[in-house]
Amino acid sequence: MYCPNCGTDIDKNAEVCVNCGVNVLKFNSQTVPVDDRSNIWVNLLSLCCFPLLGIIMFFVWKEKQPKAAKSALIFGLIGIGISIIFSIIMFVLGFAAEMMNNDSYYYY
Ligand SMILES: [Zn+2]
Repeated sequence: MYCPNCGTDIDKNAEVCVNCGVNVLKFNSQTVPVDDRSNIWVNLLSLCCFPLLGIIMFFVWKEKQPKAAKSALIFGLIGIGISIIFSIIMFVLGFAAEMMNNDSYYYY
């Protein structure tokens, strides 16, 4: 077989290239093509409905698909941020409504 780094003909059982010293086994396992792109559906689901999905997919993908994992995590965190902001707004609105009810209570 040939060294994937320098192309020297080396023993097929060799772990390290005799010419350039690269770890052939490691080199081969690293060059396995992986479709590492952000997954639009996972991102959308994380954003609108299931923020936890993005975080789960981050841990599933982080070894082999770091880009997809990072993007899923970001969308998951944005999804969580949106739901927190939404609950704060609802809380403030509920509080304001209660204040107004209390005011009207004193008028009657
Ligand atoms: Zn080599």
